[in-house]
Amino acid sequence: MTAPSLFSRLKTCALLRNVRILYMTPGFATRVTGCPICGSSQTAFEYKNRYVPLDRCVACGHVFSRKLPGKRILNLMYGDMHYWTKDKFHQGITEIRPSEQWQGFTGARVGILERTGLLGDGAPRKFFEIGCSEGMVLHELHMRGHEVMGCEMNPEISEEGRKQLGVDIRTAMFEDLELPRASFDVVMSFHTIEHVKSPRAVFEHIVQILRPEGTVLIEVPCGPEEYNNTDHLHFFCEESLKRLIQDYFEETEVIDNSYTNFEGVQIGSLYGIGRRVKAR
Ligand SMILES: [Zn+2]
Repeated sequence: MTAPSLFSRLKTCALLRNVRILYMTPGFATRVTGCPICGSSQTAFEYKNRYVPLDRCVACGHVFSRKLPGKRILNLMYGDMHYWTKDKFHQGITEIRPSEQWQGFTGARVGILERTGLLGDGAPRKFFEIGCSEGMVLHELHMRGHEVMGCEMNPEISEEGRKQLGVDIRTAMFEDLELPRASFDVVMSFHTIEHVKSPRAVFEHIVQILRPEGTVLIEVPCGPEEYNNTDHLHFFCEESLKRLIQDYFEETEVIDNSYTNFEGVQIGSLYGIGRRVKAR
């Protein structure tokens, strides 16, 4: 395995500097007032990371970025392969093809689908993954006979996934994507909705494309050690994840999945599951 090259690391430094400048430039980021999850106007300063201050909702405990990035900032952050390389290298993954490198990664995700009964009784089901990156989890489900589709806003990563794995990946932000209504059994998302501007807008769209008996499975990181991760706009806790799901689903379950990663670092993680779409 090779470490990211000097060129790649210099490029990352330059990108981060530009992101920081854009965040400070009027018109490139918008100010958030009120809790994006429960709507409460009672918020308090929580932390200041390299780019922005973070606020905490007094009512539901949700922590969120006080500024939301515009398209220019998002494109700098997620526009090419450097994001994938940086993210996956830390997990011991260097190539987009099914191999031993991926066992821990896909095993954890397919494992939670299995344990929560979302793979069904063996009959093919229809899965959608939000922020599917290169699509390896979808590929694994496809190999097990399921019908799969995903979206990924990063054009280079989604193109690589289509090419290498043959998975149906749409290059778009989920909220902007036109999909058939009431057609999926499971909508899932791993470590993605903490990056989106509005988790509620994402849920509005999830419940449109799910069948009435369908299920959503969301994994998010949690814990204050995440505050310095400047890609994250949302820092969920059990309560805020629960509130988000129960506004849209009849049955809500939150599972603490904190674990030790590839490098031996403790990672806080929550699974949120919503079953049966609420009638509206
Ligand atoms: Zn709140």
